[in-house]
Amino acid sequence: MKSPQDIWEAALGELQTQVSRANYNTWLKDTNGVSYRDKTFVIGAPSTFVAEWLETRLKSLIKKTLTSIIGNPVIIEFTVTSLKSHAKPDMQPVYADGGISSKASKFPAEASLNSRYTFSNFIAGECNRLAYAASLEVTENPGHVYNPLFIYGDTGLGKTHLLLSIGHAARAAGHRVLYTSAEQLTSEFVSALKSNSTDSFHSRYRNADFLLIDDFQFLSGKVQTQECFYHIFNELYESNCQIVVTSDCAPAAIASLEKRLRSRMQGGLIADLKSPDIETRLAILKTKAKQAKMSMSPAVLHLLANQFSHNVRELEGSLNRIFTYARLSGSELDVKTATQALADLIAGDTRNDTSLTPQRVIDSVASHYKLSVEALVGKRRDRKTSLARHVAMYLLRDQNNYPFSEIGKLFGNRDHTTVLHGCEKIADEISINPHIARSINELKKSLGIKANS
Ligand code: ADP
Ligand code: MG
Repeated sequence: MKSPQDIWEAALGELQTQVSRANYNTWLKDTNGVSYRDKTFVIGAPSTFVAEWLETRLKSLIKKTLTSIIGNPVIIEFTVTSLKSHAKPDMQPVYADGGISSKASKFPAEASLNSRYTFSNFIAGECNRLAYAASLEVTENPGHVYNPLFIYGDTGLGKTHLLLSIGHAARAAGHRVLYTSAEQLTSEFVSALKSNSTDSFHSRYRNADFLLIDDFQFLSGKVQTQECFYHIFNELYESNCQIVVTSDCAPAAIASLEKRLRSRMQGGLIADLKSPDIETRLAILKTKAKQAKMSMSPAVLHLLANQFSHNVRELEGSLNRIFTYARLSGSELDVKTATQALADLIAGDTRNDTSLTPQRVIDSVASHYKLSVEALVGKRRDRKTSLARHVAMYLLRDQNNYPFSEIGKLFGNRDHTTVLHGCEKIADEISINPHIARSINELKKSLGIKANS
């Protein structure tokens, strides 16, 4: 199978012929293919601003192009990656101490890229209190209080930020720190298998005081890597190495995870990150504005805090956008400028369109399938009810981009993975099942959504 980067390079080749040269050079040239799994293709952009621009302006063209290259419908997501780290993927884990790896000399470059992810610029609030406190605690008292510490939450809520903060603080205290993503761990393991060097792979992980694994959910279904990681985990655990893991869902919700590994992950402290509450959103905006040496009126702060409430990455993106807009247009950063700068983001963000509330979506789907709302959100599992439920989940995700966990709450507290599968099922069916495609179009029409959006 081709790597995500190969697929993305093929897509870039096609996209180059479809957008202007200026647009290509400004927005697409420095992107990369980060991952492709569970039908989701993640594209890395060099900054939040570029990621946002691509999300609002080019997402549908990119989706079309990738779908035709891959030959199956794909879900597109954008993430921010550093230019240096994706220019040539470094398959080695990053050691933060300078002592246990020949790759250690690489760390300063990586560290300077990620130095903004520290405890000092992480804003603690109601939404992240436990995860934040536990992160501080394991840094001060590694290997003893909570081991492993498992932090989970939807995308953009600060998992990587917390994990790297632990890494920086532990390194400052003289500990040997190893940070890697589950994806990188897997690639490295696969290369070690190919070159018959699993022993040296293993031994590289042996000497750490802190093992930090980001996006653990990526191990789902990777049977051999899980097996290998289980042994590394046990060895490190026995030697009191502090293990910290992040994931987009709780251990219980990670599909295809070996039982004994799941139980290991559940053996320490599990802390979740929730969508930021209004106080935290305001505090984040104020801090980031201060860092950027921009002053903003309380009205502009509230405009952003109320408009972007689900995810910190979006909140930051909106801030970057208005700063750039104000700087380029030479305007004062007032509510008018901010509204202009965010016009297309807000227009594309139907989450805040009061006419498209979750209740309206649920009511419309229930009546379309001639079901009661109670049945739709309840426990019934017959074919018709399940299909209708998946359609409602799909519409809520597609139109409102609600986190899977929030959608789950609307349907009797179903978990993240159930919602994810429901949405993907419908996304796939739409292209092959004309009945479903027609139902979705009719529903969109009745909800006042453009059929092709
Ligand atoms: P995740 O790994 O959960 O997808 P990240 O850690 O990459 O999210 O966070 C996304 C962005 O939001 C980063 O730029 C990060 O610095 C910022 N961020 C998230 N939570 C906070 C917070 N509580 N305080 C300050 N910045 C935050
Ligand atoms: Mg992350």
